[in-house]
Amino acid sequence: MSGSRQARSATAVRPEVALRAEAIRKIFRLRGSEGRRRAVQAVSEVSLELRRGSVLALVGESGCGKSTVARLLARLYPLTSGTLWLDGEKVAGRGGRARRKYASQVQIVLQDPFSSLNASHSIRHHLVRPLLLHRRGSHPGTLDEEAVRLLEEVNLAPGADFLRRYPHELSGGQRQRVSIARSLAVEPEVLLADEPVSMLDVSIRLEILRLLGRLVADRNLAMLYITHDIASARYFATETAVMYAGELVEQGPSEQVTQNPQHPYTQLLLASVPDPDRAAAGDTGRTAPGEPPDLAALPAGCRFHPRCPFAGKRCSTDAPPAVDVGDSHWARCWLFAPGGVTGEP
Ligand code: SF4
Repeated sequence: MSGSRQARSATAVRPEVALRAEAIRKIFRLRGSEGRRRAVQAVSEVSLELRRGSVLALVGESGCGKSTVARLLARLYPLTSGTLWLDGEKVAGRGGRARRKYASQVQIVLQDPFSSLNASHSIRHHLVRPLLLHRRGSHPGTLDEEAVRLLEEVNLAPGADFLRRYPHELSGGQRQRVSIARSLAVEPEVLLADEPVSMLDVSIRLEILRLLGRLVADRNLAMLYITHDIASARYFATETAVMYAGELVEQGPSEQVTQNPQHPYTQLLLASVPDPDRAAAGDTGRTAPGEPPDLAALPAGCRFHPRCPFAGKRCSTDAPPAVDVGDSHWARCWLFAPGGVTGEP
């Protein structure tokens, strides 16, 4: 354990929840092709908690707003409204110092390992720079030693061999390991992993997920794992939240959400996952009919109602509440609310 991590764990008992988002919203105001302004509601009233030593998966189709959530949590985008709490303290201040402090505690690992590293700089440069910027106490003489330790922590060994290399000399999996090592250089408390394996060969996805899982346990990190692959959420995350058209529609323990999904959208997401056993029995899976809505022209009522096989009278007019379905599991659907989808007593 490095000196600053030892000092941090010895001096303070930190809250179990490292990062909390309360009703965060993001509206992008864009100019359309005919010069008309469009308000794109990318994220609507999303609340979530990232706990130490635990992974929360955020699952949904492309364009549902999950990557925007990661960027809001990383403070790469300003919030339209809502609040972030880090270590139990309300996040405030947009100045350089506040921003640097936040960035040293909350790091993001991006999807594309090919563009996230600068081709003109060595691996040493990518690791030493954050060590110098965020950990002013790092002695220049120990920087290489610390960089080697980080590389070996992400299974790039011997680390000294990798220090001299350039990104183009590495495979996609090795680059993603370097990106992860770089994010660890500042000893974060929270890691936001935005589709960290989706651009990698299938053969190494599991290795990278295992590595992330080990880092969560060894460093007591709080992790957000963003993915469109709900099957990997069951394997990798303690809890799973499902997002549709900018809002959370279901959340609970991963085993519950993936084995006993309640929201019709989650059920269709799971039914679309290729399953050899089901295929052998003649079931080739189902997908939700139609397309997700335009986030600048959301349907009234339940956002999923134009595609939902269970939609009733109430669904096209009234937004459904989040309803507790037991075992720390909830779903945003009229099926579970008093009166059901018709609203009749
Ligand atoms: Fe389907 Fe209605 Fe539930 Fe929405 S509220 S998911 S339309 S049943």
